[in-house]
Amino acid sequence: MNEHDSEKMSALLENVGFTQVSAAEAADVVVINTCSIREKAEHKVYSALGKLKSLKKKNPAVITVVAGCVAQQEKENLLHRAPHLDLVLGTHSIAQLPNLVEQVGQSRRQLESTAFAGDVESLHMNAPLKGKNQICSYVTIMQGCSNFCTYCVVPFTRGPEQSRKLDEIVDEVRDLVKRGIKEITLLGQNVNAYGKDLNNGTLFNDLLKELNGIPELSRIRFTTSHPRDFNDNMAAAMADLKSVCEHIHLPLQSGSDRILAAMNRGYASLEYMDKLQRLRERIPNVAVTTDIIVGFPGETQADFEDTQRALQIIRFDQIFSFKFSRRPGTAAREFPDQVPEEIKTERLSAVHRIQDEITLQHHKNAEGAIEEVLIEGIKNGNGQPFGRTRTNKIVNIEGSERIREGDLLKVRIVRGLKHSLLGSLIN
Ligand code: SAM
Ligand code: SF4
Repeated sequence: MNEHDSEKMSALLENVGFTQVSAAEAADVVVINTCSIREKAEHKVYSALGKLKSLKKKNPAVITVVAGCVAQQEKENLLHRAPHLDLVLGTHSIAQLPNLVEQVGQSRRQLESTAFAGDVESLHMNAPLKGKNQICSYVTIMQGCSNFCTYCVVPFTRGPEQSRKLDEIVDEVRDLVKRGIKEITLLGQNVNAYGKDLNNGTLFNDLLKELNGIPELSRIRFTTSHPRDFNDNMAAAMADLKSVCEHIHLPLQSGSDRILAAMNRGYASLEYMDKLQRLRERIPNVAVTTDIIVGFPGETQADFEDTQRALQIIRFDQIFSFKFSRRPGTAAREFPDQVPEEIKTERLSAVHRIQDEITLQHHKNAEGAIEEVLIEGIKNGNGQPFGRTRTNKIVNIEGSERIREGDLLKVRIVRGLKHSLLGSLIN
C-alpha cells in the first residue's frame, strides 16, 4: 500500500512538470513516504530526517516533505521536531501534494495537512501512472480499516474502512489495461469486507466478477484477506473466475486461540484451518501465505508452540513474521506481561527455521511442473528474464533472447531454490 502511495505521489508531481532524479542532492522536492506499522520502520524516518537536515543546509531552497503513516501519526509534532521540514502530508492528503508543494514554495512556511477526508473518492486514488513500461499495477479498492486488532496502528493512521465505488475501480482497471497492464493487485486492509459500507448490495465477489470480464486482463490478485471475513463464496469465486490467481495471503498472526482473542482477530485457529481446508479442496494447487506475530503480550511458551504447530500443519508457501512492536494508541501497547526482547528474537528465529524448510520443500515439489509465468523484467546484470507464477512464486528463466517483458509463457520448473524457482522455456 505504501509503495502504491509513493507511485501516486510521483505521478501527481510528474503531472505538474516535475521529473524524477536519482539523487536527493539533485532534487527540488524530496518526499519521504513513511510506515509506522512497527517501531523499527518509524525509527528509519528519524534517521532519514537527519539526512534531510544536511541536505537543507547545502540547498536551503529544497522543499522537504514527510508523507504517510508517521506523518499522520505525528502531525505537527514532526514540524517542531525537525524545523528543516517543510511539509507533513497525512495519508488522506496525497492528492493535495502538488498544491501544497506550491504553497510551501511561495510562502516558505511550514505546512501540515493531516485531516481525514470524509469521502473516499476525494482521495483521487487513480492518479495516472506516467511513462513507465509497467506490466503489473496496484489498484486501491478501499481505504483504512475499522477492525482495531489490538496491536495495530492502521485504523489510527489510515482512518475508517471506506470502499471505493465499483464503477470507479472498474474504469481505473480498464484504463490500466489499455496502457498495457496485464496483472492487477487489488489493495485493501480487509478486501473481503469490500462493499459492505457501500450499502448497495455490492460485495467483493461482484468486483472480482466484473474485473474477470475484462478480456485483456490476464491476472487478478488481491491483498489482504481477513480470515474472519473469508468465506466459501469467496473460495468459489477464486476457483471459478479464470483471471483470479491461485494465491491467497491470509494472515493467521498466531496459532494460539488465547492470543488470537487478545488480538481481537475474531477467529480461532481451527476455524482458520477449516476455511483453508475448504479452499484447498476447491483449488488443490492454491498457494497460501501468511503473517505471524511472535511475542504478543502474554504469549507463553505453550502459546508459541501452538503457533509452531500451526505452521507445521498448514505448511504455508511463505510467511512474513514479525516481533510484536508496541504502537502508539493501540490497546496491546498497554497490555501486561510484555514479552522480553530476547524471547521475541528467539521465537522469530525458531519460526524462520521452521518456515525456511517448508518453503524450500514447496519449491522442490514444484520441480518438473509446468507453470504459466508472466515476465516482469529482464535482469540488468545477466539479461535473465524473470517473472511470477499464478501462485506468486518468482521464477528466473534460463536465458532466451526471445523473451520480452509482459510475455505470458509456459515454463518448466527445473529447480526449486530457497527463495525462487528456476525455469526453462517450453518450445
Ligand atoms: N490488514 C492486514 C490483516 O489484517 O491481516 C494486515 C496489515 S498490516 C499492514 C501487515 C502485518 O503487519 C499484519 O498482518 C501483522 O502481522 C503485522 N503487524 C501489524 N501491527 C504489528 C505490530 N504492532 N507488531 C508487529 N507486527 C505487526
Ligand atoms: Fe491492522 Fe487488523 Fe486492520 Fe489488518 S485488520 S489493518 S491487522 S487493524
